[in-house]
Amino acid sequence: MKQTILGRMVVLTLIAVVISSVVSVVVVYGLHLDNIGAELIEDGDFIVDLLNETYTLEGFVASEAIQNSSTRITVVAPDGIVIYDNQANPATMENHGNRAEIIAALEQGEAQSRRLSNTLGIHTFYYAVLLEDGNVMRFAKETDSFLFTLYRMLSMILMIIVGVILIALWLGDKMANAIITPINNLDLDDPLGNDVYEELAPLLTKINRQNKAIKTQMLALEKQKERFETITTNMSEGLMLLDHYARIVYMNSSAFQILGEPGDVLSAFIGKGLLTFNRDLKLRQAVEKGLKGNIGETMLTIDENHYELLVSPVSDEGESAHGVIIIVVNVTQRYEVEKMRKEFSANVSHELRTPLTAISTYAELLKNNMVDPKDVTDFSTRIFEEARRMSSLVDDILKLSRLDEKVEINPKEDVNLHVLAKDVAQSLRPLAEMRKVSLEVTGEPATVFGDAGILFEMIYNLCDNGIKYNRQVGGKVAIDTKKAGDKVIMQIVDNGIGIPKDHHDRIFERFYRVDKSHSRKTGGTGLGLSIVKHAAAYHNAVIRLESTESVGTKVIIEFQSK
Ligand code: ADP
Repeated sequence: MKQTILGRMVVLTLIAVVISSVVSVVVVYGLHLDNIGAELIEDGDFIVDLLNETYTLEGFVASEAIQNSSTRITVVAPDGIVIYDNQANPATMENHGNRAEIIAALEQGEAQSRRLSNTLGIHTFYYAVLLEDGNVMRFAKETDSFLFTLYRMLSMILMIIVGVILIALWLGDKMANAIITPINNLDLDDPLGNDVYEELAPLLTKINRQNKAIKTQMLALEKQKERFETITTNMSEGLMLLDHYARIVYMNSSAFQILGEPGDVLSAFIGKGLLTFNRDLKLRQAVEKGLKGNIGETMLTIDENHYELLVSPVSDEGESAHGVIIIVVNVTQRYEVEKMRKEFSANVSHELRTPLTAISTYAELLKNNMVDPKDVTDFSTRIFEEARRMSSLVDDILKLSRLDEKVEINPKEDVNLHVLAKDVAQSLRPLAEMRKVSLEVTGEPATVFGDAGILFEMIYNLCDNGIKYNRQVGGKVAIDTKKAGDKVIMQIVDNGIGIPKDHHDRIFERFYRVDKSHSRKTGGTGLGLSIVKHAAAYHNAVIRLESTESVGTKVIIEFQSK
């Protein structure tokens, strides 16, 4: 801006100086010419008057003053012959009879003329007066032509131009500073507090108005940002925003924790490319798809967790994406449930197929009379056993699926576990006697709020296991119930074969058995403990297992008392 002001000042000054110089020279030159003409006439008339009054022409021309005069004086006879000239030899001079001023003077008594010599660039003024003796006295004065005068003045004009330009630059600089410095020193945070020249006032008022509008908008934006951050920070889902170049614009802490490396700092990745943060190929491919305007979906497995990743493009219709939004959802639970369900279906088919195959084989043999009559009872018994196993398997599956649904099957009520344990013992006594296992119920009445049927099933399964997986001689199973503060504790203890430590974690899984053949032999379905686990969860009870191989097993269930 300052440069522009100075530049324009210089150009303006230059134009002004040139125009005023030329105009001045024209005017001054005009005046100069007028002066010369007037002077010549005045001098001429004076000399002629003197000559007429006192001097003779001979005396006049002999005078030293006339001879040395800067005015050229020529005396021309009426026939044009030059009689006298104070600056040249008249003998060498041509006839002047044709000169305009001489002709005019002879006719009118006096005359003026002006001639320009192009070659010498000189203007000559002539003034001719008819003398009393009939001769014409001509006075001549030379002066430079206009262009020559201008040329002679050029150096001075140039000096003036340089001087004026310097002054213009100095003044321009001062002026520019006077305009610019207050602008540079403006306090835009408080526009109306500035003390500046009045022309700036409208601008400052406008800035002040805009400042207020910006402040209001900033506040609204800040609030929106805070709200957005509160929501996204507390989201368990990961959220990321990437720009068109796949640079991270925003990332919430969940996304950072899921996709980042331990020790990373979230803020360090804002504004950086996605690749600097996570180089997973599947993530990259989904993002590339998103940036092309399509929805990218993929699954990621990180540290045994499974994540569903959804990349949505942010774009105006039909345009390539301005960026993408990435949402990362932890679907481990769903994944595991799905996996479990698949495994469960496979296990169920397998478990059902085994007795079914046995039944159909035995039945076919019987149908084709291929069984020795004495073995028919045995075959029928086997078919019956397998059918019973199938039936109990289907029963268990149904019980489990009902518990899985987590809906209240029967309304909950007060249930005395001690009494329930006695009922269970009563039902299992024949089996216990058959296996020569003593069965006792100890402890005190303890009431919980629950479903008696499910609780019965739970205690039954645990006791049943205690009897089934017990020693041949001296086997014992005890059910104990007691109250402990706000808790009710039930323990089912046996001194049976026990469960090796490395199976403890998996024992409650569906169809998991430590010894498959033993379980089958005893008619187990592999679902008993799974039902126990679900039944306990249904009552918000906690199960603990303590078991040592060849020593025995203790299952402790901790209920919240009524
Ligand atoms: P099952 O129908 O096979 O008994 P469960 O789910 O009830 O299925 O038990 C799973 C497995 O845990 C059993 O097959 C058995 O190997 C082991 N088990 C359960 N209870 C006991 C126990 N009291 N003593 C020893 N092993 C047990």
